[in-house]
Amino acid sequence: MLGDERAARTVLTQAIEGWRTWTLEGSRDGSEVWLLPIAGTGRRWPQREPVRAECARRRLHRVPGLECTCGIHATDRLDPLRRTRDPTVLGTVALWGRVVQHAYGYRAQHGYPQRLGLICPLCFWQWGAEASRPPVAAVRHRGGRLVPLCDPHLDLCRRHGYPVRRLLDAEGVERTLLDAYAVDVLRIIRPSAALAA
Ligand SMILES: [Zn+2]
Ligand SMILES: [Zn+2]
Repeated sequence: MLGDERAARTVLTQAIEGWRTWTLEGSRDGSEVWLLPIAGTGRRWPQREPVRAECARRRLHRVPGLECTCGIHATDRLDPLRRTRDPTVLGTVALWGRVVQHAYGYRAQHGYPQRLGLICPLCFWQWGAEASRPPVAAVRHRGGRLVPLCDPHLDLCRRHGYPVRRLLDAEGVERTLLDAYAVDVLRIIRPSAALAA
């Protein structure tokens, strides 16, 4: 995810901000939601308290280790995140403590989300955040994983027999998520809209 692991690494001391994607887990009625890391420990991100990185390989070193892959991952630009496996929440994250810098991002000791927004993963993979259509519904799978979909992609999934039985309102899920983590919504400004403003 962070590019060449052999790239020059620097240990930073000041707090920085990076980009991340998460998967989302929700209760049956959508009244409770949690951010989950796409890779790593798979443990829910705590709400209203910082996440602290642990070494998944249980190696005895300071986290994040220079020669390891542990730590809270974030990128310094949006585009590499389009290659992530289940991007359902896009956001910015504050990173602090021990931070290892890579070619395209960071691994940090502590982190907390700053701004979050639900994304349609199919739009995001194809066109990136700026051209993604807003999700209208979140499909809840067995086990609790939530997948937000825009109107055309929801329709496409229905036509191709992708299971979309349990649907939650995407706006409601996003509001619950923002409340749970006490953060603001992420709005991606399209370059054309920014120029027109
Ligand atoms: Zn490690
Ligand atoms: Zn879509």
